[in-house]
Amino acid sequence: MLKGKTAIVTGSTSGIGLGIAKALAAEGANVVVNSFTDTAGDHAIAEDIAKAHDVTAKYVKADMSKEEECRALVEAAAEIGPVQILVNNAGIQHVAKVEEFPAEKWHQIIAINLSSAFFTIAAAVPGMREAGWGRIVNIASAHGLTASPYKSAYVSAKHGILGLTKTVALELAEAGVTCNAICPGYVHTPLVDGQIEDQMKVHGKDRETVIREVILERQPTKEFVKVSDVAAMTVFLCSDAAAQITGVPLSIDGGWTAM
Ligand code: NAD
Repeated sequence: MLKGKTAIVTGSTSGIGLGIAKALAAEGANVVVNSFTDTAGDHAIAEDIAKAHDVTAKYVKADMSKEEECRALVEAAAEIGPVQILVNNAGIQHVAKVEEFPAEKWHQIIAINLSSAFFTIAAAVPGMREAGWGRIVNIASAHGLTASPYKSAYVSAKHGILGLTKTVALELAEAGVTCNAICPGYVHTPLVDGQIEDQMKVHGKDRETVIREVILERQPTKEFVKVSDVAAMTVFLCSDAAAQITGVPLSIDGGWTAM
């Protein structure tokens, strides 16, 4: 379905991003795998994807907290072919009371979880306009629609990305380019593992209790969302059937935002 199209997935050496990169490659897209670490393992991920799906896959190191590296990522990807699919997925979390929230963490989360998407979109849009076809998918969160205590920076960034999504969708509405956001509830990934540890400290409770009573407290199905669920939604948003879906937050949250 996506044969010959070039896709960037930011933050794709782990968790949701890795699942999305594999799913896009399975549909024939050439993919750029990204993180800020540049390890042999990172390059091996891209090599494995290329072999498994018979596509071009390349690892590009870029620290998404830095404007110039966000823009350079889009340029490096264009060496494979014009970027027509952009998935802004890189994200980090920090949990602390607002009055104790370190300013450095605030700036880092706003930079990685929000500003990076602005810079990659700005860099990729001219090529998408020229091609007359593009798909931008921003991985937001249920925390783009609702809040939880102790996550001031994350909730602010995720609410912000929904505003960016709607604005970009309107600007590109007649250009054949859609821009949407996916709002997952809790997906069991390394990021959530970190949150479980943090919440164990904040609440002074054991792992199982934190998962049941804190992490999945607001997820009515009491089940984690699967990485493959988010990847499948991303693939659908890249399909022709989704051409008229633009500017929306799509929830995959086990009923969280229905409450
Ligand atoms: P993860 O920690 O498993 O993966 C994060 C990825 O981002 C990694 O590849 C990491 O290398 C990369 N990354 C981190 N900082 C970076 C930087 N400065 N530059 C480039 N890459 C960087 O996390 P995940 O759970 O897969 O989360 C992915 C996205 O999904 C995030 O935006 C997160 O907010 C969102 N999300 C996650 C959940 C969940 O429950 N896991 C729920 C809703 C939304």
